[in-house]
Amino acid sequence: METILASEFDLIARYFTRPAPAGMLGVGDDCALFPAPAGMHIATSTDLLIQGRHFFPDVDPAALGHKALAVNLSDLAAMGARPIGCVLGLALPQASESWLAGFAQGFHGLADRHGCPLMGGDTTRSPHDLAISVTVFGAVAPERALRRDAARAGDDIWVSGALGAADVAYRLLDGQLPADPQRLAATRRALEWPEPRVALGQALGGLARAAIDISDGLLQDLAHVLEASGVGAHLAYETLPVAPALRGLPAATVSRAVLGGGDVYELCFTAAPGDRERVRAAAAAAGVPVTPIGRVDPRPGIVVADADGRPLADLPRGFDHFLAS
Ligand code: ADP
Ligand code: MG
Repeated sequence: METILASEFDLIARYFTRPAPAGMLGVGDDCALFPAPAGMHIATSTDLLIQGRHFFPDVDPAALGHKALAVNLSDLAAMGARPIGCVLGLALPQASESWLAGFAQGFHGLADRHGCPLMGGDTTRSPHDLAISVTVFGAVAPERALRRDAARAGDDIWVSGALGAADVAYRLLDGQLPADPQRLAATRRALEWPEPRVALGQALGGLARAAIDISDGLLQDLAHVLEASGVGAHLAYETLPVAPALRGLPAATVSRAVLGGGDVYELCFTAAPGDRERVRAAAAAAGVPVTPIGRVDPRPGIVVADADGRPLADLPRGFDHFLAS
């Protein structure tokens, strides 16, 4: 039998209380305290993960701990901000030692790598499903922040990493794609252990114009940038960086995964064409591949063109209202 912990206080002490870095007041008081870096703005973002909607009930708890923080660090990355710390809200249907140990290990592992210590939170028993809420705090100089409304006509559109693997893994696990253990093994890490592009986001601060992280799919998230900036986009489909693990899948499965698949946590950003070499150098310094995939157009809407320049007709459904006719 699993040990069920006696109280929330035991649980917080055992799994979520760690020595705070110098200058920070962490878990244990009414609020966490941290100094606001001089001349910087505080960037903050929160994400809520609900069992059954954002993760499968049987997911590895360490992966869940990692991902709960990763999706938030990805928002800091997309703003060009440096992580300061985070807080964690947990609604637990039950509290088993092994689940909590795994979750905490995944969470703190990523937090340590990005200098984003857990500073506080709230813990409660839940009569419902598991729910996890993480809020991150970061610092960014306001003039270097990568806002969604800053894209300009003529900018290059870039994307980091590779696209499509998380969507394929999700659809394999969900039974929407026929069972394929080898393919699942090759794509599952992208879904469950996404690597937030924190170093890249900071390297692009003050260099790229607009940026967003791809949590809801390339077309949908790019559309948010375009709408906020009052512009449109022309993408060249054959330039999109398709994850190698998708090789051999039907073309329609690939295009759906690459254009519409969410949970990617890569950065999509725009930059002036004159800054191409600086963008490549910044990405190389951050150790992340980046690919130019199109350009910002003055006309609203998104066109995705094939190798012959013809607009693709079969774009993923649900995004039609963003597309140029
Ligand atoms: P309060 O009554 O002020 O909400 P709590 O008893 O809920 O305080 O929490 C006690 C301390 O433990 C606080 O410092 C709080 O930030 C911290 N804490 C509670 N839950 C978590 C958690 N899941 N992760 C990190 N810190 C937590
Ligand atoms: Mg509380």
